[in-house]
Amino acid sequence: MKKEFLIAISYIVEADEELIEQSEKDKHPVFNINLDNYFPRQIKFNEDILAKWTCSTTVTLESKSNNSVKCECCGTWVTQRDKPDALPLSRAEYIDEKIYCVECADNIRSGINCRH
Ligand SMILES: [Zn+2]
Repeated sequence: MKKEFLIAISYIVEADEELIEQSEKDKHPVFNINLDNYFPRQIKFNEDILAKWTCSTTVTLESKSNNSVKCECCGTWVTQRDKPDALPLSRAEYIDEKIYCVECADNIRSGINCRH
């Protein structure tokens, strides 16, 4: 029996907010790119497994309006996977009620202080 899986690939883009708002007002959104120029529509993993592109989405990373939080140490965006609205970001780790990315959490647990 076959089962379908969703593979999400995420990019974080830093852009000037006014530029994005103006491009949307002008009806030429900056993020409305032709994916064919960057990514194949299909990826063949092997003879039996073929991934087909389905869609792209843009989410503004803001801790207050969605489940995106910056690592206390390095500032990398992470998501709290134990909450229902998790985003396709790296998993948040908790140490002493602070949120870290996996790499910084591993360092802290190993006794290595934040280097950022
Ligand atoms: Zn970090």
